[in-house]
Amino acid sequence: MTTTSLVSTPFLSAHDVATIVQRKGLDACLRGMVDTIQADFLRWEAFDKCARVASHSTDGVIELMPIADDLSYAFKYVNGHPKNNALHGLPTVMAFGVLASVATGVPELLSELTLTTAIRTAATSVVAARVLARPNSRSMALIGNGAQSEFQALAFHHLMGIEEVRLFDTDPLATAKLADNLRSTGLKVVICTSTAQAVRGADIVTTVTADKTNATILTPDMIEPGMHINGVGGDCPGKTELHPDVLRAASVFVEYEPQTRIEGDLQQLPADFAVTELWQVLNGSAVGRTSEAQITVFDSVGFAMEDYSALRFMRDTARELGLGQRLALIPDLADPKDLYSLVRPTASRFVAPVSLPDTQAA
Ligand code: NAD
Repeated sequence: MTTTSLVSTPFLSAHDVATIVQRKGLDACLRGMVDTIQADFLRWEAFDKCARVASHSTDGVIELMPIADDLSYAFKYVNGHPKNNALHGLPTVMAFGVLASVATGVPELLSELTLTTAIRTAATSVVAARVLARPNSRSMALIGNGAQSEFQALAFHHLMGIEEVRLFDTDPLATAKLADNLRSTGLKVVICTSTAQAVRGADIVTTVTADKTNATILTPDMIEPGMHINGVGGDCPGKTELHPDVLRAASVFVEYEPQTRIEGDLQQLPADFAVTELWQVLNGSAVGRTSEAQITVFDSVGFAMEDYSALRFMRDTARELGLGQRLALIPDLADPKDLYSLVRPTASRFVAPVSLPDTQAA
């Protein structure tokens, strides 16, 4: 008789990932994530890539982000609903994802990716800023002080030497929350009353706002020679942060050009506007910053490879710390063709199969 048992899939809940970050330290997680993402960008051509698949609605978007190399396949499910906070008391961005074996298709990890996305996005911003911002950058304007903002501030503090953050949000409560969370981190925090005030004199400007509109958070008059702009919140058709002339005045760097042309601030410019993919700067086949006065923009939208890297980083760190759970996600069948064995009524009466005599056989 066929017996059935269930193989189990490693699972990291939001609580598990928070415990990983608390045990290992956010600083160490950001560093590890930067190293993992950078290493994967350096083997860019090993990945089977595509722009993410987006399902748009009036108030938001739900996206699937698949990617694979020869060994592993990953996807992330992520949403973006800027009105969620005010209307439903929910985060703007929520996510989870899977890492699977290319050889067999077996899922090897199911994980939360909401907290992980904030860490991987900040880490990706640092990977870009290390080759695009002036090395002596010490101050950063942070426009948009919501869920992602602490991770951006602390990644730039720990990994880029940023000493001062200049905060602005249209919601003063968000700014107060961020300032409070950054107390005792060693960062000097300056609360500003406008974007223009926050940006003035900053070495780096991070825009990480959420609004489903073509906003102009940064206008050309605010931009100073040598600034690096880390544009994080313009990541969906009809959802931008930078005035197009800010892009025209700058050298623009992107993750995966086909996706950024659709989703990034770049969507505002013609298809022949020149941009450089970040991996090319990282491997030395293209130049990043070429002068002190150059204005650089990292038009970040979030690419599937960063989630592939993030899933691997969290899986390995969970193993190292002995954290996580297991889920009975996939049935383990003694006879893989006998899926029915899972639901076969246990008390059903056995009826012997009938064999037809040779004369009646077809
Ligand atoms: P959130 O809703 O928690 O915070 C966004 C903040 O922006 C809010 O506090 C809001 O008041 C503020 N804001 C809106 N309009 C503003 C304006 N005109 N000026 C100043 N502040 C303004 O959202 P979040 O999770 O922090 O995400 C922020 C943005 O980052 C979203 O647009 C999200 O889609 C994007 N994001 C991008 C990536 C990426 O890889 N590029 C990854 C994650 C999130």
